[in-house]
Parts: sequence; C-alpha cells; structure tokens
Amino acid sequence: MNLEHIKQTDPVVAEQIELELKRQQETIELIASENCTSLAVMEASGSVLTNKYAEGKPHKRYYNGCEHIDVIEEICQKRACELFGMDHANVQPHSGAQANMAVFMATMKPGDRVLSMDLSNGGHLSHGSPVNFSGLYFDVKSYGINEYGEIDYDDVRKMAIEHKPKLIICGASNYSKIIDFKRFREIADEVGALLLADIAHIAGLVAAGLHPSPAPYAHFVTTTTHKSLRGPRGGIIMCKEEFAQAIDKAVFPGMQGGPLEHIIAAKAVALLEASKPEFKEYAAQIIKNAKALAQGLMDEGLDIVGGMTENHLMTLDLRKTGKTGKDMANVLEVVGITANKNTVPNDPQSPFVTSGIRLGTPAVTTRGFKEEDMTEVAKIIAGAIYASDNEQGLKNLRERSLKLCQKHPLYT
Ligand SMILES: *Cc1c(COP(=O)(O)O)cnc(C)c1O
Repeated sequence: MNLEHIKQTDPVVAEQIELELKRQQETIELIASENCTSLAVMEASGSVLTNKYAEGKPHKRYYNGCEHIDVIEEICQKRACELFGMDHANVQPHSGAQANMAVFMATMKPGDRVLSMDLSNGGHLSHGSPVNFSGLYFDVKSYGINEYGEIDYDDVRKMAIEHKPKLIICGASNYSKIIDFKRFREIADEVGALLLADIAHIAGLVAAGLHPSPAPYAHFVTTTTHKSLRGPRGGIIMCKEEFAQAIDKAVFPGMQGGPLEHIIAAKAVALLEASKPEFKEYAAQIIKNAKALAQGLMDEGLDIVGGMTENHLMTLDLRKTGKTGKDMANVLEVVGITANKNTVPNDPQSPFVTSGIRLGTPAVTTRGFKEEDMTEVAKIIAGAIYASDNEQGLKNLRERSLKLCQKHPLYT
C-alpha cells in the first residue's frame, strides 16, 4: 500500500494506517458485516473523483464539468440494475442507513406505521429502533424470531393484519436462515403495504444467485456495498420504475447534498467484480466456510442459535457456558479473532453485555480460508472460551491464529 505522500505531510495518521493494515493482516476477521475490498475498488475510492461536486442526477446536475462523472454514475446504476434484476437504481446513498431513510421519506409521512424486525432479534437500527430517526419519527411495530432462530411468518401476517403498516421491512443484520421474500410480499399485498427488502448483509449471496432474490417481490431493495458484496463503504437503493422519481427526490434534495462520486466509481468496480464467475465461487465458499465453522463449533459442544446456518453468519449462544458475549468477544480479541457480541433470543443479559457472539465468513473467505481452516478457527474459538482464564493457553491459541493468517496473506 503506497502511503508515500501522507507519510510526508502527516506521519501521525500514516503510522496509524500502517498499524491498521498490520492489524487486518494479523487477525482473523469474523465480524459478519466486514470484508476486504480489492485494490481496484480502493484505487477508485482514492481517486481524483473526490474533488467533484455533482449534486443532481446524471445529465441533470447543478454543477458543470460532470461529463465523466455522469458516465461513471450511469455505469454504476446500470450494473446495479442488471446484477439485482431491478428497474431503477440510485447509487448515491452514503450508507445503508441513509438508503433506508430515503425509502422511509419516499413512502411515508412522519407518524406513519412500519412493521420490521426487532433490533435485539437481528433487525437493524435503521428499521425502527427508538434511538434512530426511524423509531423517533415513525410508528414502529416489530416482529422477532422464534426458538428455532426463524421468522414466524404466521406471526408477521397476524401483526400486519392487526397494525396495518404502510411499509413492511424484511432483511436483517443477524439472521442465519433464508428469507422468504415471496411470503413477505403476500403479507404486504394482503394489508396494502409496500415491501422493502434490505439485503445489506446478503447482497453478495443474492448477486451470486445463492440466496433467493427479492427482485420479483419487493417494491424497494436497499443494500450496503461493503459487506458480502465486497465494495466500498456505501449504500444503494433499487426500486420498481413507478417509484424511481420519489426515491431520487428523497435522496437529493431530500437527505443528501453532493454525492461521493469517488465512492460511486468504487461501487461500479465492485458491481463489475460481483458479476464475474470468480465471485460466484467466492460467495459459494463463504457459505461452505460458514457451515464448516458452525459444524466445528457444535462439534466442540457449543450452541448456535437456530442450529446450522444457511448463509454467511451465525450467532454463538454462550448461555450454557456461563460466559457473556462481552467478555468472550474480548477474549477472542486476545487470541487474534475479531467478532462482536450479540444478543440471543430471550437473552438474560443486557444488550451491552449479551449472551452471544455473531460470527461471519465473508472477510476470511476473501483471504482464501477454506473449510479445513474454519475447523481450526472453531477449535481456537472453543479453546478460548473454555480456557478464557488460562494465560498460557490463550497465548498458544494466538500462535495458532497467527499461523492461519500467515497461510492466507492479505494485501501483500
Ligand atoms: C449494515 C446494515 C445497514 C446499515 O448500513 P450502514 O452503512 O452501516 O449505515 C442497514 N441495514 C442492514 C440490514 C444492515 O445490516
């Protein structure tokens, strides 16, 4: 990674970037929402496009000099529509949360009702958490998951009939089963609601055809570009043609000013990468690795919420070990594994402490980890949990995780 200029002008920041690179190279990244982009994506996002103001849409800008920006943004829109099979794409949202905010703005007035998955059951902040704009300005009813770690569609239907929401949201930040978008659309139609499918987490799997696509069913599809899709940090909204204008107006001038055209270029590069046969292989390996990790953990006597995963992530349920998510996420960091604490269904601990840890495989799969490596990762995790007070034991586990990192080098 070339840091020649920043080293000259700002050695303090340059040093931290170098240390962060080393951290990424030497730790096993199991945070389910993270990934490692290609150098091509990074070059685009670090390009001269960062200099350009381009408020508005391609060919309808408020600034001059957008002829190249227009080409790039149109290519990005076209690639998003083709990859996900939707009519229209707005590629300007700065993040996934802002993509969702724009859909709220395009479809509802403040105070209108939304039905979405509860945050503590795997939903996302921007789907109606009371501390987020979505919960502050809208009337939110939420559904959860049952003891098998699955959405109870009959319960969703009952709630939809009772509460008559304007918008139903499906898609989650922590859900390890296949989402039945068709069933959600049937429920939405029954109560006259619009359907938003937020595929932020599973976008890479959907792009590869390894998770059913929401395209035939959802009025709106939002996604992040930086999770399993492996692009730059950002968001995209896709919709049916009839909602195109409302969505574009909600993004600009509704919520955002100038779009980040350097990031839009990087999104275009990532979308092209995601359309290649190699990406299909990558996405298939993400799922194989997640299944190998889940199996390995269960073989070590640990519980997974809902049992075997069907996608890229799982939640380790620590209740029977007597340990908490907060403590064990810290212990994993000691042995060189990064993951986040997460609530489990009916968690006896607070959301700050929790009884679970969320684990995902997109990032390690990018590095080239295969099933046998995931079995070793499962052994390291189990070892760390069972021997969390044994300093020498943890040191030995750290050696083992470093060996795996050296076996699959990153950005070298
Ligand atoms: C990550 C995520 C988002 C938000 O993405 P940000 O870019 O962090 O704003 C939205 N929805 C879901 C389901 C997510 O998992």
